[in-house]
Amino acid sequence: MLDLAAQHAPIQAELDAALQAVLREAAFIQGPAVGEFARELSQFLGQADVIPCGNGTDALQLALMSLRLPAGSEVIVPAFTYVATMEAVAILGLRPVCADVLPDTFGLDPAAVAAALTPRTGAIIAVHLFGQCADLHALSAVARQHGIALIEDNAQAIGATYRLADHETVFAGTVGEVGTTSFFPSKNLGALGDGGALFTRDAARATFLRQLANHGQTRKYYHEHIGLNSRLDTLQAAVLRVKLRHLPTWITARQQVAAFYDAALSGLAGLQVPVRDPRSTHVFHQYTLTVARRDELQQHLREQGIPSVVYYPVPTHLQPAYQYLGYRAGQFPVAEALCRTVLSLPIHPTLTSAQLAYVGEAVGYFCRRGV
Ligand SMILES: *Cc1c(COP(=O)(O)O)cnc(C)c1O
Repeated sequence: MLDLAAQHAPIQAELDAALQAVLREAAFIQGPAVGEFARELSQFLGQADVIPCGNGTDALQLALMSLRLPAGSEVIVPAFTYVATMEAVAILGLRPVCADVLPDTFGLDPAAVAAALTPRTGAIIAVHLFGQCADLHALSAVARQHGIALIEDNAQAIGATYRLADHETVFAGTVGEVGTTSFFPSKNLGALGDGGALFTRDAARATFLRQLANHGQTRKYYHEHIGLNSRLDTLQAAVLRVKLRHLPTWITARQQVAAFYDAALSGLAGLQVPVRDPRSTHVFHQYTLTVARRDELQQHLREQGIPSVVYYPVPTHLQPAYQYLGYRAGQFPVAEALCRTVLSLPIHPTLTSAQLAYVGEAVGYFCRRGV
C-alpha cells in the first residue's frame, strides 16, 4: 500500500538526471553507481560492509551459502513471515525448521528458538517484521551460546536502530553474521524493479559474498566457487542513490503517520495497535493492527474505499509447498492466530492528514458501533 507515483513526483528531476547519466555511460552491469551506492549505504549503516545483489531472496540464499553449512543442516525460521525467508533455506536443500513468534512484536520467540535447536541446527534467520527489530538481544545470545550463525532478514526494517545489551545503538541488519535486505519497489528503500543487498562486519565474508553473487569468480573467468548471477543493475543503483538521500525523511513521515493512527485508535475495543519494543526504533514498513473481527473490519474499510492488506494470511509451516516438512495446524498457535487477526492500514510518506483522519474515523466507527 504505497503510492509510488506520489513518492516519485517531488524527486522526478533527481531521478531523471541519475537515469540519464547511466544511459550516457552505458555500463549497465557493475557500473560505477553500484559501488557508489554500496559505499553510501555502508556509511548510512555505520560502516558495515554492503554487498549489492539481485533481490532480497537471493540475498538470503547468498547469506546461507556463505555459511557453508553441511548437507542436512537445519535453519530456524519464523512461522510468521514472508515466504522468501523459508524458501531460501529450502532451495539450497537445507531443512527449514519453523519456530513460533511473539504475539506483541511478531518477531521470532527466543524461547521457541531454543526449544527448536538440535545438533544439526546451523543458523537462525530473524525477521524484523513490519519495520521493527526482532529480539536481537536474546536471539544473538542463543546463537552465540550454541555456536550457530544469526542471519537478519532486514527486508522490511532498513534504517531501524536497535539498542544492544551493552547500550550501543546499531542499525538493523548489522548485528548478526549477515544481514539481508530487499529493494523491491514497495519496500521502504525501493528501486524501480528488483534489487537487494547483504551487510556484514566481517571483511573476509564480504569478499566471499561479492564473489558468490558474481558466479563465484575471483577475477574474470576464474571461478573458485559455485555462485549465482545476482547483481544489482546499475540503473537501479543510480535510483537507489537518489532515494537513500530521502530515506531518513520518509522514515520520519512514516513514524508521524503511525503516531496519528496510535492516537486515533489506541484503546478501541477489540483492537490492538502496534506494540513497540523500547530497544528498537520502528520504521513502519507496515502499520499492522491485530483485530479479532479482522475480516469484518476489512470489509467495512473496503466499503469506505480504504485499502487494507493481510500480511500474511497463511503461516509458513502451513504453506502447501512446505507440506513435506510434516507440520500440522496447531503447532505454532501464535503465528496461526496472527494470520487470522492482522490487518495493515495504508502507511506511506505522502498520506495527507485528511486521508488519515478518514481512515481513523472509519476504524473508530467500526469498533464503537460494532458494524
Ligand atoms: C520482500 C521480502 C523478501 C524478499 O525480497 P525480494 O527482493 O522480493 O526477493 C524477503 N523477506 C522479507 C521479510 C520480505 O519482506
